[in-house]
Formats: sequence, C-alpha cells, structure tokens
Amino acid sequence: MGTVNPALLTGLHRRYNPLLDEWVLVSPHRLSRPWQGQVEPAHADDRPAHDPTCYLCPGNTRANGLRNPAYPSTYAFDNDFPALVEAEPGRKPPPIPGRAAPDQPVGAPGTINVAQGFPPPREALRRDHAAVVRPASCSPVSDGLLRALPQRGVCRVICFSPRHDLTLARMETTGIRDVADLWAEEVERAARAGWLRYVQVFENKGAAMGCSNPHPHGQIWASAEVPHLPERKLAMQAKYHAAHGRDLLGDYLARELAEGVRVVCQNDAWVVLVPFWAVWPFETMVVPRRCVDDLRSLTPDERLLLAAVFRDLTARYDNLFRCPFPYSMGWHGRTIDGAANPGCRLHAVFYPPLLRSATVRKFLVGYEMTAEPQRDLTAEHAADRLREQSPVHYLDRR
Ligand SMILES: [Zn+2]
Repeated sequence: MGTVNPALLTGLHRRYNPLLDEWVLVSPHRLSRPWQGQVEPAHADDRPAHDPTCYLCPGNTRANGLRNPAYPSTYAFDNDFPALVEAEPGRKPPPIPGRAAPDQPVGAPGTINVAQGFPPPREALRRDHAAVVRPASCSPVSDGLLRALPQRGVCRVICFSPRHDLTLARMETTGIRDVADLWAEEVERAARAGWLRYVQVFENKGAAMGCSNPHPHGQIWASAEVPHLPERKLAMQAKYHAAHGRDLLGDYLARELAEGVRVVCQNDAWVVLVPFWAVWPFETMVVPRRCVDDLRSLTPDERLLLAAVFRDLTARYDNLFRCPFPYSMGWHGRTIDGAANPGCRLHAVFYPPLLRSATVRKFLVGYEMTAEPQRDLTAEHAADRLREQSPVHYLDRR
C-alpha cells in the first residue's frame, strides 16, 4: 500500500468522497484572506448543575405538562414536538415485506387530531400524557416529475446526563458508555416496532448549530423509509463490496492508519480521523477497527472504548478554541428492516462549523450551495491541529 505525497495536496485541488459520491474543492491558499464576516457570540459556559427552567433537567416539567423523573444517568422520552409521527390512530402501519406484522395498532391512545392546531393546546396535552399531533395520512403521488411518498416515524429525545452543566467532553467515560448503551437500546426498540427501516441517532450541540437547549442531549429519529444520505452511503458501500469483496471503510481505515497524517486519536477498538474528503473545517469520522454494522453489535468493551474515544475527541474540540465546541454528530450504520446491507461498517461523523476561533464559523453558501462544497484548511492541517490538543479538557486541568 503506497502513500499520497503530501506535496500533491497543498495546492488547489478537488477531493472525492467515495461514501457519498461527491467532490469537495480544497483551496488552502485562501486561509490568508482577511475576515470581515460574521462573528458568533462567544459563549461562556457557566451553566448551573440544575436549571429549574430547563425542560430536560430531572424533576422539571416539560411544555406538555409531563414531569421528568429524577433520572440518575440517562433518560429517553418521546419528543413532545416530533417531526415524524406514527401511523394514524388505531391503524396498523404497513408491515415491512418478509417480516411479521406489528402486533399493536399504534397511536390509538392519547391522539390529538391535527385540526386542534400545532402546537396543540396545553389543556389537551395535559389531559393525556401520550398525546401527539397525528397528521392526516398522505397518499403516494407519482405524476411524472411530481413524486411524493408518505413518511412515518418516531422521534425520541435522550438526555445524556442529569447534569445540566456537562457535555460529552466533560462527562465520565462510564457516563458516556451509558449513553452508548442507550443508543443501542433505542435502535433495538425501533427495530422491534416492526415497521421502521432506519434509525438516525444524532446530537446537535451548541447555538451555532441551532441547538435550542444546552442540556446534554441527543435525538433519535426512526423512519419507515430510509433517508437519502444514509441510503446513498449504504448503496456506495454495497457497490464497493460487490466490486472488491471487502468493505469500503475497512479498506479506507487501513489506508489512513498507514498514512497517519489524518488520524487524530485512537484506541484498541476505534480510530478518529479527519476524512480525506472532509467538508467542515474540523470534520471527523469515528470508525471501529472491527467490521461491525450496528450499534447493537458492539461488545461491552467496544462501548467503553467508544466512550473513551468520544471523550478524547470532544475534549480536543473544546480545547482547540477554548470554548464549548459546537457540532452536529450522527451515526451511520445498517438499516433495521432485515436488508442485507453488504459492506456496511458503522461509523460516526462530527460536523463542527467553527473555522478560525470560537467566534468565526464556516458558512456553506454561494459556491457551496450552487456548485460544490469548498474548504480552505486541508484535512491534514486540521488533523495536525486536533492532534496537538490535549485530550484533557481545559476546564478540568488543575
Ligand atoms: Zn437541564
């Protein structure tokens, strides 16, 4: 296995993303341009351990009148304002071909008719704790260029910790392991429903990414149809597997470990790297050394080592600009409908928007919206910057 001469990657060029079949324009010479654009407010992280106004803190009342239990570690509940909802009340959702039909009609109790408006009146929600707005059913549309399909699903919120003031970067490794266990339980919960095909596990952190609540939490959106980004990744991995008889990310990981220049940190089960084709300035991918395709298939050791590597990476992110580093993180793995998914390897992606400091972010606008993504900082330079950070959080150094 050869290595790419780094000198070839310092000039203006495009890089190919084999997971999404996309290109990114890399213009390292632009790093020297003056910045007169938007500056984000710097967020001082002085949150209390418990915030009586936070709807995710233990013991607090949410917008729909439900009270959170005094949970000691993690806590999952149905999103009070879900983007995806289950089938219509009393009606069984269509089963996935080849699988047993779901046992229960879904959505029967506590249903609120969409005619009541959105958000539904608080009184109505308080009447029934299982209340969720159920939109009217949509029929498929296939009329030439105009196509539409119904979509159904389940949205869950998962609190990572009872502590309002923590983030993954400052949680104990065992606490993050509990989060990994809950992710796996939630995937299993969705799979057991019998009518869901894909589970997107993600975390949106920081106001710069549109996160509305600083309490450490993530989301689970499970849907009856596979969303297009994971679908494309699965298709590209299947195509590679058919051509080579090996998995794409396994071959890619071996290549990155041989080259070394884009690896940020690693342990016995996981490797964190800045993908060769990264779009966001400090984008990273977390890849398991073992070819595993589902969060549920991780061994207890792999979950603990996953927690360690997540803590290491997120602390490095915070240390980079000495601020709570915003990002969107998501897991990509197999579908939950029993499909074969050949060549699929589980992985997590982190997309952080910050570019030069805690207050200057990258925008995907102009050329990025109309042509293709573009970056200034090379993936190799970004990996250098992350590698030189301490894995010990700056607030935890004494
Ligand atoms: Zn809170």
